Amino acid sequence: MAATASYENWVPYWPPGRIAWLQGLRLRSTIRHAYRSVPYYRRTMDERGLRPRDFQTAADLEKLPLIDSLTVRARIEEFTSRAVDPRARQTFFSSGSQSGVQKKIYWDDWGVLRILAYSERDRAVLRRLSRRSWGQDQLFILPLNSSVIKLRHLWDAQTLVPGAVARRHFISPDVTFDVALERMNAVRPQVVFSYGSWAEQFFRTLADRKLTAALPRVWSYGADMMGRETRDWIEATFDCLIYSAYGAVETGRIGWECEQRRGFHLNVDECAVRLVDPQGRTVTPGETGELVVSNLHNRATVLLNVRLGDLGVMDGARCRCGRTLPLLSSLEGRVSELIQLADGRSFPARTIETMFRDHLQGALASQIVQPPGGEIRWRLVPSDSADREALSSGLLARSHNLFGPETAVAIDFVTAIPRTPQGKLRRVIHGEETADTASIQGEMLPTGPSN
Ligand SMILES: [Zn+2]
Repeated sequence: MAATASYENWVPYWPPGRIAWLQGLRLRSTIRHAYRSVPYYRRTMDERGLRPRDFQTAADLEKLPLIDSLTVRARIEEFTSRAVDPRARQTFFSSGSQSGVQKKIYWDDWGVLRILAYSERDRAVLRRLSRRSWGQDQLFILPLNSSVIKLRHLWDAQTLVPGAVARRHFISPDVTFDVALERMNAVRPQVVFSYGSWAEQFFRTLADRKLTAALPRVWSYGADMMGRETRDWIEATFDCLIYSAYGAVETGRIGWECEQRRGFHLNVDECAVRLVDPQGRTVTPGETGELVVSNLHNRATVLLNVRLGDLGVMDGARCRCGRTLPLLSSLEGRVSELIQLADGRSFPARTIETMFRDHLQGALASQIVQPPGGEIRWRLVPSDSADREALSSGLLARSHNLFGPETAVAIDFVTAIPRTPQGKLRRVIHGEETADTASIQGEMLPTGPSN
């Protein structure tokens, strides 16, 4: 692991041609493996008259169909290689689906270690930002049964890392604010890992109650994303840097922020990424599209062209940090969290956050519920100091202004917003779903040991 770590530190700076060469190698090897031993790809390629030699670069992946997570869940065995011994693989579960059934994904043992190895690319950034490379105290505020924690324990069991390198502390996101604060003050972590919505609510409560805490130098979040405005507000109010990485159980670690923190550098040699429009056509940089990811390093469940349900925008420019790995400039929210208006307009969750930034200042957390027909119901957890009357009238006025007078808008004040079984907060839920069975497929993957 130590030997691959220094190598992995350099990959993000390679000339783009060399990264494309490495991606091509992994792609061809994955396709050969899939054709040989994965029933879905054998059949699909035969039906389309394709052979492994028809896949030379990532662009050739467009010859294969897009798959969504419902298909993966229903037909997992068809995407699973017959060549990988079940004893040499691990089973992971992604978050609950709309039906409450979790999606199972197998990873071969080597693939699991690959994630740890190439995560060195963002561990290096985290060390620099936290200004601490040795003896870090890390606090994980994540469900104890999450894939993140499972991977963390697997890595600790499979690699020889002295315990003194990083001390890891775990608490469940279900604990109350006061318990979490007490634990943070006891641990005094340099780095905290949590879901984005958890961090947001924590900081808003801290500000509302005018409390101080032993905050980490860096707070790293994933899964349910946080908007730029919220991040800027936290950094301006508290002495804490906000950091993020992006991954999914299906794909491993897709991207991570560099020191500039203005987008995600994509590990395209391990996970080929493209963005598509609703018809499945690749969009150009600057345009919003759904992320489609192909995992090039898992041999157990082979998933190519998976629609992750996340909306993003690619940045065509080179990053100022000098790294050449392409940049995803932002994640805009989930496809399932689009607000749909009767007049045909739709808004991603992150756009809503930007548009309502000033009007949601008095809320610790918020969610939009949209029953069929286009009506909008805001659910708000007001802060202790909020003037509910003013909050309500300001938000109603802004909503009418943006959504038009024909869109009915209502506001409900609640004490808490139900989270998904995985502890995430959905920004938007549609009428036929209930909050506690709704799905968020994206799952944050952790940062490995900080040695
Ligand atoms: Zn950069």
